[in-house]
Amino acid sequence: MGSPYAGFLESCSLCRKPLGLNSDIYMYRGDTAFCSEECREEQMDLDEARERNWKGSSRSVRTSAGAEDSSAGKIFQTGTLVVA
Ligand SMILES: [Zn+2]
Repeated sequence: MGSPYAGFLESCSLCRKPLGLNSDIYMYRGDTAFCSEECREEQMDLDEARERNWKGSSRSVRTSAGAEDSSAGKIFQTGTLVVA
Protein backbone atom coordinates (compact mmCIF):
# COMPACT_ATOMS: atom_id res chain seq x y z
CA MET A 1 0.00 0.00 0.00
CA GLY A 2 1.44 3.36 -0.93
CA SER A 3 1.64 5.86 1.86
CA PRO A 4 -0.11 9.17 1.21
CA TYR A 5 2.32 10.75 3.64
CA ALA A 6 5.43 9.57 1.84
CA GLY A 7 7.78 12.50 1.70
CA PHE A 8 5.62 14.81 3.71
CA LEU A 9 8.61 15.76 5.78
CA GLU A 10 10.92 16.16 2.82
CA SER A 11 9.96 19.65 1.80
CA CYS A 12 8.26 22.73 3.17
CA SER A 13 4.54 22.49 2.70
CA LEU A 14 4.37 26.12 1.65
CA CYS A 15 7.46 27.10 -0.32
CA ARG A 16 8.54 23.52 -1.19
CA LYS A 17 12.04 24.16 0.07
CA PRO A 18 13.69 20.84 0.82
CA LEU A 19 13.90 20.14 4.54
CA GLY A 20 17.26 18.79 5.56
CA LEU A 21 17.66 16.35 8.40
CA ASN A 22 19.75 18.89 10.27
CA SER A 23 17.55 21.88 9.63
CA ASP A 24 14.70 22.99 11.81
CA ILE A 25 11.30 21.66 10.90
CA TYR A 26 8.20 23.45 12.05
CA MET A 27 5.21 21.17 12.41
CA TYR A 28 1.64 22.28 12.08
CA ARG A 29 -1.49 20.23 12.78
CA GLY A 30 0.70 17.22 13.31
CA ASP A 31 1.22 16.32 9.66
CA THR A 32 2.37 19.45 7.89
CA ALA A 33 5.99 20.50 7.89
CA PHE A 34 7.49 23.91 7.21
CA CYS A 35 11.01 25.20 6.79
CA SER A 36 10.42 28.26 8.94
CA GLU A 37 8.07 29.89 11.38
CA GLU A 38 7.18 32.40 8.66
CA CYS A 39 5.96 29.67 6.32
CA ARG A 40 3.99 28.02 9.09
CA GLU A 41 2.33 31.29 10.03
CA GLU A 42 1.53 31.93 6.39
CA GLN A 43 -0.20 28.54 6.26
CA MET A 44 -2.09 29.33 9.47
CA ASP A 45 -3.34 32.54 7.88
CA LEU A 46 -4.44 30.67 4.79
CA ASP A 47 -6.27 28.08 6.89
CA GLU A 48 -7.92 30.80 8.92
CA ALA A 49 -9.14 32.55 5.79
CA ARG A 50 -10.41 29.25 4.41
CA GLU A 51 -12.27 28.48 7.63
CA ARG A 52 -13.88 31.92 7.51
CA ASN A 53 -15.06 31.15 3.99
CA TRP A 54 -16.44 27.80 5.12
CA LYS A 55 -18.40 29.48 7.87
CA GLY A 56 -19.77 32.02 5.44
CA SER A 57 -20.96 29.40 2.96
CA SER A 58 -22.09 26.93 5.62
CA ARG A 59 -24.76 29.40 6.66
CA SER A 60 -26.77 28.78 3.48
CA VAL A 61 -25.99 25.06 3.70
CA ARG A 62 -27.42 24.96 7.20
CA THR A 63 -30.52 26.85 6.00
CA SER A 64 -31.34 24.29 3.33
CA ALA A 65 -30.40 21.38 5.59
CA GLY A 66 -32.72 22.61 8.34
CA ALA A 67 -35.63 22.93 5.92
CA GLU A 68 -34.90 19.56 4.37
CA ASP A 69 -37.56 17.75 6.36
CA SER A 70 -40.42 19.69 4.76
CA SER A 71 -40.05 19.65 0.97
CA ALA A 72 -36.91 19.42 -1.12
CA GLY A 73 -38.38 21.48 -3.98
CA LYS A 74 -39.43 24.38 -1.78
CA ILE A 75 -36.11 24.41 0.06
CA PHE A 76 -34.19 24.70 -3.13
CA GLN A 77 -36.17 27.79 -4.11
CA THR A 78 -35.77 29.30 -0.66
CA GLY A 79 -32.06 28.57 -0.70
CA THR A 80 -31.67 30.14 -4.11
CA LEU A 81 -33.46 33.28 -2.97
CA VAL A 82 -31.29 33.51 0.14
CA VAL A 83 -28.11 33.11 -1.86
CA ALA A 84 -29.22 35.63 -4.50
ZN1 LIG B 1 9.05 27.27 3.61
